[in-house]
Amino acid sequence: MNCNEFEIIKKYFTKNSLDKDILQGIGDDAAIINSNKSLVITTDTLIEGVHFPKDTPAEAVGSRALAINLSDIASMGAIPKWCTISISFPQANEEWISGFSKGFFKLADQYKVSLIGGDTNKGDLSVTVHLIGQLNRKPLLRSGGNIGDDLYITGSIGDASAGLDILNKKPLLDNEAYSFLVNRFYYPSPRIIECNEISLFANSAIDISDGLVSDLSHLCNSSSCGAEISIDLLPLSKELSISYSSNDAIHFALSGGDDYEVCFSAPKSNRKDLDKVSRKLKTPFTRIGQLMTGSEVKILYKNKPYIYSGNGYKHF
Ligand code: ADP
Ligand code: MG
Repeated sequence: MNCNEFEIIKKYFTKNSLDKDILQGIGDDAAIINSNKSLVITTDTLIEGVHFPKDTPAEAVGSRALAINLSDIASMGAIPKWCTISISFPQANEEWISGFSKGFFKLADQYKVSLIGGDTNKGDLSVTVHLIGQLNRKPLLRSGGNIGDDLYITGSIGDASAGLDILNKKPLLDNEAYSFLVNRFYYPSPRIIECNEISLFANSAIDISDGLVSDLSHLCNSSSCGAEISIDLLPLSKELSISYSSNDAIHFALSGGDDYEVCFSAPKSNRKDLDKVSRKLKTPFTRIGQLMTGSEVKILYKNKPYIYSGNGYKHF
């Protein structure tokens, strides 16, 4: 069933919020918020056929649209608070919109993010979320890394691009490992809680959206240093390892984006504290190398230099 724009906004996007800092939410020409803290602001767009395949479930599109923005706020060491959404779809299909809204608000509720406005248009399917967070302490920047810092990764990497590969190849076989990998693409888990604690002990961070090597080199550029990482130390999930050859798994882990895990650097003296946080949150923080002098990301495999020919995701 189709319905009009205002019915859609009311039914699927308007949710009461108890947040007293929202002076005006959805319903006027613009929203008004109060903040006595520094604000951290980000935006990211998902376009059908570019960032997700055509038949992606609506719930996954809604969840992912918010998750990728949550990940940016997380890697700054901030707490997400308010967002707006700008959405275009070719027709107002209620079943699709309802699924989208369900996926979006499930994650919004989990991280106590309030939707305070947006824009709804007819057009090719695309979603842009603007997300505003607050800083409770110093931000976690790409530029804060120091030579000699340990390099860590949260969770496991390579899963989401393997998931995307599975979606593209549509293998006849379906199994638990495949659904795990596909779900890692559909429903990335933003590392908000982790980064909020990591920010007490880390010097720099970046979320891995375009691929480890590509994103780590951004961190290195900003921190004016190089890095050395070891393939043998990369946190690969068992699902990735059993579903792909080790060459493919390495390729996904080094150059596949979409996991939205966080790569961060921290002084060696903070190892114990970070191990404690990792155990408490039950999220692995894996040391994969360190920041070095120079400007390159050097990769070792079985203690020998590894020639990396892949690239991170680039639009142009
Ligand atoms: P305007 O034409 O003044 O931009 P709109 O009709 O686009 O107003 O929006 C009316 C109200 O609904 C505004 O508060 C806007 O922020 C909000 N809004 C529009 N689309 C959405 C959406 N998809 N989700 C949440 N709020 C929305
Ligand atoms: Mg508008």
